Amino acid sequence: MADDGKSTVDTSSPHPARRYNYWLGGKDNFAADRESADAIEAVFPHIRTAAVENRRFLQRAVRVLTREHGIRQFLDVGTGLPTADNTHEVAQRIEPASRVVYVDNDPLVLTHARALLTSDPRGRTAYIPADLQEPESILAHPDVAATLDLSQPVAVMLIAVLHFVHDDEQAGKAIATLMGGLPPGSFLALTHATADFLPPEVAAALTSGKVQGTGSFEGRSGAQISRLLDDNGLEPIDPGLTVVSQWRPEPGVTPPPAEHVSVYGVVARKS
Ligand code: SAH
Repeated sequence: MADDGKSTVDTSSPHPARRYNYWLGGKDNFAADRESADAIEAVFPHIRTAAVENRRFLQRAVRVLTREHGIRQFLDVGTGLPTADNTHEVAQRIEPASRVVYVDNDPLVLTHARALLTSDPRGRTAYIPADLQEPESILAHPDVAATLDLSQPVAVMLIAVLHFVHDDEQAGKAIATLMGGLPPGSFLALTHATADFLPPEVAAALTSGKVQGTGSFEGRSGAQISRLLDDNGLEPIDPGLTVVSQWRPEPGVTPPPAEHVSVYGVVARKS
């Protein structure tokens, strides 16, 4: 592939993937990312809990899809920098032949992903540079058809990425296009930042546009997220749309309160 990621990595402005990596305790971030991350943390002190809980949801959702719904193919859009237990690792631990296509619009993510996200030889992984704002370009990428059998169910993972698509119509189109190209029995696993549980002053501060970096994401309400599912004929599986930490928590784990997480999660089936 033409892009090696090196020439286009901009370290002077905050990038979501590197900021999230910093909140998760990773080292793949730069000063601009840390400044933005700290500014958000000053307003919402629970942001690290939110990042960790979002990541745990991803892993539980992949396990449920693989074990209980027989899913063997994943389209993971908004991959993020590789960390522990990435989508293909969780899936291939249960079913080694699982196939995963990773998609991100940040060249740094793709460079790391190609180096680190290596597949079990019985399965397959691919990494494509594409933008969720242009969803048709994702399904049309030749590496998608070369890696996944699009006549069989696929789980689309939109984990902490749809909130970077500001326009509601555009967000709806992203889901409609991706899910529209897949057969019945496919799934959407979605997580999304929300202000529904935040004290009004915190929500107002985060949406004021004055906190560095916050303008880059769009909190949506539970009602808005449910509408995106309904509009596309997607039926949530149990327990429906919940705060990520309350979606099928591991036995014996007491989830943190919703206001410390402020990220919705849902897994929904296309019928
Ligand atoms: N899904 C991972 C990482 C979330 S961080 C997880 O939840 O653990 C968000 C990721 O989405 C970053 O890697 C960022 O580069 C990517 N991203 C943001 N906007 C995007 C867009 N419009 N298209 C594709 N990827 C995007």
